[in-house]
Amino acid sequence: MTDGLKVLLSGVIGHPIAHSKSPSLHNYWLKKYGISGYYMPLDIVPENLFAAIEIMPKMGFVGANVTIPHKEDILKISDKISTRALEIGAANTLCFGANGSVEADNSDAYGFIKNIYQSYPDWDSKKTAAVIGAGGAARAVVWALLNEGAPEVRITNRTKHRAESIANDFGSKVKVVSWKEAPEMLDGAMSVVNTTSLGMIGKAPFDISLANLNSAAMATDLVYNPLKTTFLEQAEQKGCHVVDGLGMLLHQAAIGFEKWFGKWPEVDTQTRQVVL
Ligand code: NAP
Repeated sequence: MTDGLKVLLSGVIGHPIAHSKSPSLHNYWLKKYGISGYYMPLDIVPENLFAAIEIMPKMGFVGANVTIPHKEDILKISDKISTRALEIGAANTLCFGANGSVEADNSDAYGFIKNIYQSYPDWDSKKTAAVIGAGGAARAVVWALLNEGAPEVRITNRTKHRAESIANDFGSKVKVVSWKEAPEMLDGAMSVVNTTSLGMIGKAPFDISLANLNSAAMATDLVYNPLKTTFLEQAEQKGCHVVDGLGMLLHQAAIGFEKWFGKWPEVDTQTRQVVL
């Protein structure tokens, strides 16, 4: 909570970090709710992570977000880890205690699910899902889908062992499919998620055939730059309900904002515009 003239500090720790939309978002909310605080981008290389986390509470930081490449390493230096962060194997939201202790949480899974329901309240999460990609973000997505009751989550990744590692960690409901068979994996899946960076501006195009995609499926992309990716465009042409990835970013941010600044922020159309 705001304490007299005290300026509450938070930020996002990553490398690189210049592209992050989180500072615009949090600083917009701080202004909107009249809270005396500031949220900044912090470019920290992996070898400096420990030193940065040690000094930040002494500098007035109440917490931070962590992003690529620190989401897994941060668990090694956290004093308390939430159950969901522990199960996902990564954290993105930190709170610092007065004595410098570090509490780690993961809000990506919450943001992912909340975004789908906000756009598609009738989404049936209790059907077979297919996840394309097995990077850091995919771990939170698979955990979230299982937690929402998906009876089976199929997963494919260019580098197969990363998909196998997720399957090993999350159990027998997760089925690994080879990258070559990605198009077949979509057959019968009612939730389809792209968690790769394919289709993002400046990255390789998304070129997996959606011929087997069920027209009644929900399709969502974690990439939000562009907002309507090729994957979402093609899924929409098939008649699927499509959900862009921007809302995930906004909803995951709300958890940290409340922890640090004491106010649950509203995620509405105006919030989307600020980030866009
Ligand atoms: P990551 O750990 O680096 O994983 C990248 C994923 O993309 C891996 O599955 C990787 O496969 C795949 N990939 C990259 N280039 C590829 C190519 N040319 N062909 C096939 N697969 C390729 O990154 P991440 O943290 O999981 O993030 C993934 C994406 O989600 C990024 O675009 C990120 O911006 C986005 N994201 C969005 C949100 C949100 O709030 N909307 C949150 C988190 C992440 P390999 O394992 O084979 O390299």
